[in-house]
Amino acid sequence: MPVISTVVPCFNEEAAIPYFYTEICNVARHPRMEGYDFEFLFIDDGSTDGTLPLLKQLAAQDSRIRYLSFSRNFGKEAAMFAGLSEAIGDYVAVLDADLQDPPILLVDMLDYIETGDESSVRYDCAATRRVSRTGEPPIRSFFARQFYKLINRISKTEIVDGARDFRLMTRPFIDAVLQLKEYSRFSKGLFGWVGFRTKWIEYENVERVAGETKWSFFKLLLYSFEGITAFSTVPLALSSIAGFVLCLIAFLSLLVIIGKTLLWGDPVSGWPSLACIIIFASGIQLLCIGILGQYLSKTYLEVKKRPIYIVKEKNHRPSDDAQ
Ligand code: UDP
Ligand code: MG
Repeated sequence: MPVISTVVPCFNEEAAIPYFYTEICNVARHPRMEGYDFEFLFIDDGSTDGTLPLLKQLAAQDSRIRYLSFSRNFGKEAAMFAGLSEAIGDYVAVLDADLQDPPILLVDMLDYIETGDESSVRYDCAATRRVSRTGEPPIRSFFARQFYKLINRISKTEIVDGARDFRLMTRPFIDAVLQLKEYSRFSKGLFGWVGFRTKWIEYENVERVAGETKWSFFKLLLYSFEGITAFSTVPLALSSIAGFVLCLIAFLSLLVIIGKTLLWGDPVSGWPSLACIIIFASGIQLLCIGILGQYLSKTYLEVKKRPIYIVKEKNHRPSDDAQ
């Protein structure tokens, strides 16, 4: 029987997991899912609440459940990578624990992959994007939109606005993603980078069922830097261009000042403007060094080759015990 694995990163999701589990069990019982085995994989990303005991308790009742518990909080990206690496399914889905990714959409996703769309085009991956951002602070939505505009302008990899990490993938697609072992992971870009054919399913934003969001504005801002440095080197080129243009302006101004002094013996006046120029130029320099630093720090993290996550404990598949 083909196996569908669901990967769920959980960071302090004690309150949401029971709802999620009920939903995903309903999906597994759906008539369309007949003839498929399920593996429910939960990645406990260093939770400090009762997430792990709850997962252990569920795993004791349901042999389809597997859990992996990290030694500390490694972030959602690391948890997704761990889930994809561990999943044994022929198809693997990534979902959030808070039901913001409605599990019932898995039925449509499976249809797109196995039978194709209206014109019988089959897909290697069915992914979701939100067409609305209701329930999200307006300032967060604004910056999110600007981020997608910017990154698509400066990167060759398409990063779809409103794309969620919620998707169902075929084995070849997952194996391709798993080949990308970079430490600073920006999955929205990695999924696009590997290519294949992706069907985008649109849906309205749903608010989380319980618990709180783990993303502060600052965390999201840092995550957006991650996306930009991972998928574009345009900022580096821009800083070189800014440097060149400023040099040109400085050179032309110098010619004008020398000319004026020689012709009219005009003493150079105006220290305030000079002060502004110095501050402006040093500001640009710091900005460009900062940009360089971003890339350098990412390179530094990559060359250290530290593992993306560390597992503290996990339960084993029934098949592992048999060996
Ligand atoms: N998450 C995680 N590690 C983290 C932060 C979040 O595994 O460091 C998980 C979280 O438990 C949830 C998913 O990632 O299942 C999405 O997080 P959240 O709902 O807080 O993000 P939002 O939907 O607000 O973007
Ligand atoms: Mg959420």
